[in-house]
Amino acid sequence: MHGFDEQHTLFRQALRDHLDRHVIPQVDEWEERGELPRDLWKPLAELGCFGLTFPGEWGGMALDFWHQIVFIEEVSRCWSGGFAAAVIAHPVLALTHLAESGSDYLKEAYLRPGIAGEKIGGLAITEPHAGSDVASLRTTAVRQGDHYLLNGSKTFITNGVHSDFLVVAAKTDPEAGAGGISLLVVERESPGLSATKLRKLGWHASDTGELAFDDVKVPVKNRIGEENAGFYYIMQRFALERLVMAVSAVAACDQALAYTLQYMGEREAFGRPIRKFQVLRHRIAQLSAELERLRAFNYQLCRAYDEGHYQVTECAMAKLLATELSDKLATECLQCFGGYGYMEEYRIARFFRDSRLGPIGGGTSEIMREIIGKNVIEHSK
Ligand SMILES: Cc1cc2nc3c(=O)[nH]c(=O)nc-3n(C[C@H](O)[C@H](O)[C@H](O)COP(=O)(O)OP(=O)(O)OC[C@H]3O[C@@H](n4cnc5c(N)ncnc54)[C@H](O)[C@@H]3O)c2cc1C
Repeated sequence: MHGFDEQHTLFRQALRDHLDRHVIPQVDEWEERGELPRDLWKPLAELGCFGLTFPGEWGGMALDFWHQIVFIEEVSRCWSGGFAAAVIAHPVLALTHLAESGSDYLKEAYLRPGIAGEKIGGLAITEPHAGSDVASLRTTAVRQGDHYLLNGSKTFITNGVHSDFLVVAAKTDPEAGAGGISLLVVERESPGLSATKLRKLGWHASDTGELAFDDVKVPVKNRIGEENAGFYYIMQRFALERLVMAVSAVAACDQALAYTLQYMGEREAFGRPIRKFQVLRHRIAQLSAELERLRAFNYQLCRAYDEGHYQVTECAMAKLLATELSDKLATECLQCFGGYGYMEEYRIARFFRDSRLGPIGGGTSEIMREIIGKNVIEHSK
């Protein structure tokens, strides 16, 4: 079913060891503070985490996709959706666009330092008036000689405040709808760019930000790929983002379920551990069964992805089912903790908050059903 071998196991052990020692003991503090320390990136880069599948020419490891899956699973088990989101968004959202469609100049300037953990990136697509409907975004990039003049705003951007560069989707041909969008790499220090951190329900350690562009000059050489081909690049890589979100959701559920079982063994009511109550046992049995089914489905898609097949409909299915299961599992596991589940000392409370984002980010559940419905129903004609 899965494609993990001894090499993946060794990588998993090294990464888990690092996360157990340097991340998990700190996440409570990062969540409290509402941001991640800058020095967390370099050691992860030294383990290869940001260039696992990227070419050696740019500092990557050129390994198979299963290494990427190990990375996603391990960072998703650290009890901080915000930490996982930040360290996944950098390679999977920002660097993938550079690796797959960037010029050699962009790869030298951003991909290489990105893989080395020296420059951190984010992907800025969503706008205050355009989330699900990407084609209707309003940020414009008007070409003036050797640069574009960028105006507009973005919101809900992961790594939006503390990253060093942003891959920004903007209209280079406002009349052309989806066919008029380009992707531009914007430097954090560009004059006219400002960012504000947003307060939110969960993902507290992540610096989700709102961005404003006021006559920001972006060199034409900072455009990723062809002009007006941005929508195509975004859609092409959404399948990867959705598969990654599905894998991440299942891994986070594993951790939450194990934590819940431990509590159920320790907590007593009516003279016996609560894990003896059949109603709770059945709840755990049902969740475990659903989790295993989705893990198998995810791995089937990972194998296809590793072999070069983009399964858009199936990745939407995986994202829909896994993030909704995570949301359900969070509610039901928290219930097993009784009042303690509602307390911040118990990490299940954070998991409950963080899981809520799954069916919203990276395309909502409603949009996943739209994609699946369109592809299943229209292809059946
Ligand atoms: C913490 C966080 C981090 C994020 N990180 C990033 C990031 O790094 N980069 C980035 O670009 N974006 C990011 N996002 C944005 C995220 O992808 C969007 O919030 C999401 O795509 C939904 O867009 P929206 O919020 O504008 O909702 P809307 O599109 O306004 O949707 C509102 C509601 O209407 C429903 N709806 C919309 N259209 C349809 C339809 N056709 N049929 C049925 N129902 C529909 C939606 O499902 C939803 O329930 C992030 C969001 C959050 C909250």
